[in-house]
Amino acid sequence: MQALADRLRAERRIVFVPTMGFLHEGHLSLIRIARNAGDVVVVSIFVNPTQFGPGEDFQEYPRALDRDLALAEKEGADIVFTPSEAELYPEGFETYVHLERLPRHLCGLSRPVFFRGVATVVTKLFHIVKPHAAVFGEKDYQQVMVVKKMVRDLNMDVEIIAGPTVREPDGLAMSSRNSYLSKEQRRSALSLRKALIEAQQMVSSGERSSARIVSAAKDSIASFPETDIDYIRIFDPETLEDRKEINGPVRMALAVRVGSTRLIDNDLLNPAR
Ligand code: AMP
Repeated sequence: MQALADRLRAERRIVFVPTMGFLHEGHLSLIRIARNAGDVVVVSIFVNPTQFGPGEDFQEYPRALDRDLALAEKEGADIVFTPSEAELYPEGFETYVHLERLPRHLCGLSRPVFFRGVATVVTKLFHIVKPHAAVFGEKDYQQVMVVKKMVRDLNMDVEIIAGPTVREPDGLAMSSRNSYLSKEQRRSALSLRKALIEAQQMVSSGERSSARIVSAAKDSIASFPETDIDYIRIFDPETLEDRKEINGPVRMALAVRVGSTRLIDNDLLNPAR
């Protein structure tokens, strides 16, 4: 892959879409964005063990390589890079990329090794694929911010492009983990999107207190069976610090366990909307 990237880079713009596979329309939308942003689209499929904590779903994470390859090709990916775990993390691997501040919020609190794993694998993949640009989904808002910050802090010569969240027709954010949900849980999964819409409605009708909006969201989600809230936060879109008052555009993000499946979603909250 490195030798190939060297040859391609000389004359063409490489745009990279890293994924963990089990591709859905969200991933495919990023491949389409990549296609329009350069000449060669590289997609990686790698379920990265270092971003899963003990007791998380690394073993169960859904995998469907043949199907993924067909979908990626159909969408216009030129190269699909599928390294093995032993290739990326050989015996004796000991170097990690760690951000000091951004992981101390949101998902970083309940998944302590997650962003270290993400920053490390993205750095490795950037060194292997040597892209001019890379596309990440806003569905994982904190992840996009962590990657952008890492690229800036470490002078990586890669443009980071964020793609909007792709949703099911009823509003549920697409995720490979949605495949874990039973029929009843699938209904409860909609509570995340519903809470975000209700929050924007409160803001549009003049509510400015984050605490009151979060409290309403908690009640709304708790009314759905099998839901267990990990966090609901309203925060500064850049620093991810909590915002008590909504005086301008802010972001709201939430993580909710539905049964044993942890789902996340986020959206802009804008008083001008
Ligand atoms: P994953 O395979 O879940 O690690 O995701 C790979 C990339 O796809 C990440 O940049 C995600 O943010 C992005 N992604 C996942 N779900 C969606 C979605 N519903 N809409 C847009 N992008 C997504």
